[in-house]
Amino acid sequence: MERNERERQMSPAERRRRMEAKKRRQKERARKKRIRMLILIGMGAAAIALIGLIIFGIVKLVSGSGSSEITSKSGTFVIAIDPGHGGEDIGQSNGDSVEKNITLAICSKLKTMLEDQLGYQVIMLREEDLRLSKEERVQKVNESQADLLVSIHCGYSEDAGISGSVSYYKTDSKSSKDLANKIQEALVEVSSTADGGVKEGNFSIISNTEIPSVLIEVGYLSNFEEASNLSDDKYQSTIARGIATGIKNKLAKN
Ligand SMILES: [Zn+2]
Repeated sequence: MERNERERQMSPAERRRRMEAKKRRQKERARKKRIRMLILIGMGAAAIALIGLIIFGIVKLVSGSGSSEITSKSGTFVIAIDPGHGGEDIGQSNGDSVEKNITLAICSKLKTMLEDQLGYQVIMLREEDLRLSKEERVQKVNESQADLLVSIHCGYSEDAGISGSVSYYKTDSKSSKDLANKIQEALVEVSSTADGGVKEGNFSIISNTEIPSVLIEVGYLSNFEEASNLSDDKYQSTIARGIATGIKNKLAKN
């Protein structure tokens, strides 16, 4: 009754002011509600993004690409060895030192060491002077039960003064990088060849294979002294021993 009384006594101007004040309050409430909604939506999106990141991290860990461990499919490690070049594809050469022959000789010695002394299984991509395309090599590896791949090549430079070995690993593969590090370390130690370092490599045989893969350039054929060393039977055994030791060190401390 009192309120109605007061309203009746109000001037039209006052009534208008009151109405406007009421509208302002309603608008303000609606604005606050919108802000609260936006905050909620933002928090929801952030939560979804966070859950997505966690799931992504778990999947990466489980799939192994984020791990440096090399796992064996059968219980015994199976190692694929790729002697670079072959047949009419001779690779690089310097006098009598020809890349396709050097890679096959080193890989044959490496196979013997890995099988007879370390008890691993070996798959050689070629055991004779045979030409294989890049695609055939990749297919052979991917269809095999191999757990890791080592491809052997020689380096070559315009600068005949450069010598040493370089180990390349598959991009974004921690296990390949770790393997390359171990091989490079052991190889430089046993052969006292110059340390050309460990680098990311963009070669088809390591990029397109599905297992941890490295490509080792065991020395520069463009360097006269290194070229003659690489054709020497004893030096080839030394290089093979370095690579075998690197593989063993990786798989033992996996
Ligand atoms: Zn080559």
